Amino acid sequence: MNTKELENKYELSVYPRRDIVLVGGKGARLYDDDGKEYIDCASNVGVSNIGHGNKAVAKAIYEQYLTLGNCYSMFYNPVRARLAEKLVSLAPGNLNQVFFCNSGAEAIEGALKFARASTGKQEIISAMRGFHGKTMGALAATWGPEYQKPFVPMMPGLKHVPYNNFDKLQVALGENTAAVLLEPVQGEGGVRIGLKQYFQKVRNICDANGVFLIIDEVQTGFGRTGTLFACEQYVNPDILCLAKSLAGGIPMGAVLCTDRVKVPVKSHTSTFGGNPTACAAALASLGVIEKEELPDRAKKLGNYFMKELRGIQSNRIRDIRGLGLMIGIELKEKAGQYVQELMHKGVIVLLAGATVIRLLPPLVISREEIDTVVKALKEVLGG
Ligand SMILES: *Cc1c(COP(=O)(O)O)cnc(C)c1O
Repeated sequence: MNTKELENKYELSVYPRRDIVLVGGKGARLYDDDGKEYIDCASNVGVSNIGHGNKAVAKAIYEQYLTLGNCYSMFYNPVRARLAEKLVSLAPGNLNQVFFCNSGAEAIEGALKFARASTGKQEIISAMRGFHGKTMGALAATWGPEYQKPFVPMMPGLKHVPYNNFDKLQVALGENTAAVLLEPVQGEGGVRIGLKQYFQKVRNICDANGVFLIIDEVQTGFGRTGTLFACEQYVNPDILCLAKSLAGGIPMGAVLCTDRVKVPVKSHTSTFGGNPTACAAALASLGVIEKEELPDRAKKLGNYFMKELRGIQSNRIRDIRGLGLMIGIELKEKAGQYVQELMHKGVIVLLAGATVIRLLPPLVISREEIDTVVKALKEVLGG
């Protein structure tokens, strides 16, 4: 059997598959098993911000694995110590402690538990169209009856309010509210950009009521939106959830929090959380982000990309919006067919909801590669 047949036969079919077999990647390019080259505008949904096949990260992983690949956080470890210090030094506001985990959903699970434990309150308010992962706790915060329905009952205590609507949030927030959980830009929900004024008001009402503001930067983090963390353009959170691009493509998540977060010893732990291999990858990846000034690159190239996209003459396009290299093209019709056509033209993009084409290229993408993507979009959407 070939690769596709094997995966279809032996894996649970929960992923909507695209009909290619990817076998290689370098920078902002991907390669299939026929040797066909693609420009990557997906970055594994925001994982590969530093591009594919980075040598510095590969070397760090290799060397750390030979030195000490695993070390449960019951024991101290110098690589984990350095990463914790580094993340706190880079984090906005008063985020001064870190909990390490292995994925975005786990970072959200941690944040929800920390908020409940630290406030003694139970309710969490999140947003319609928000996406926070699919484990049981995170799923309750994620919007979408289609995700939740097969798995009811959901964890109680979650409320959803319309995004960017302060009045509705104000009504929902009460005596028993532990936290408000929001993405600065809703990724899965259609590349919907948070309004600065809204976030400022949310920050104020949280402060006035002793409610934690949890910002989910699993997708927007690590330079994607033009600053290392998108919240630098908004407000300081009490809890910041990170994952996807944290460790240069190695699975890792982290929850950063202020010293208002207090949880009992042993109440929340993870076997692989903070393992030295992932920590070494994260340190190397952060080194690349700093050295190559990727947040600034995302800002400049994002502006260029948006300008070029706005030049496309097409009556299929309803709206183009973005922040840095996180860009959404909303169509007046379903976008699935165009995603397929782009793939045949050698450009890999994502959907965000049924009608939005989402572009999340590695931040190392070049101007020439962006031009090629714009040309393909013109051909596919034009007229
Ligand atoms: C991807 C994502 C998650 C979930 O991360 P997983 O690693 O897939 O569990 C949570 N929040 C946001 C904003 C995401 O984009």
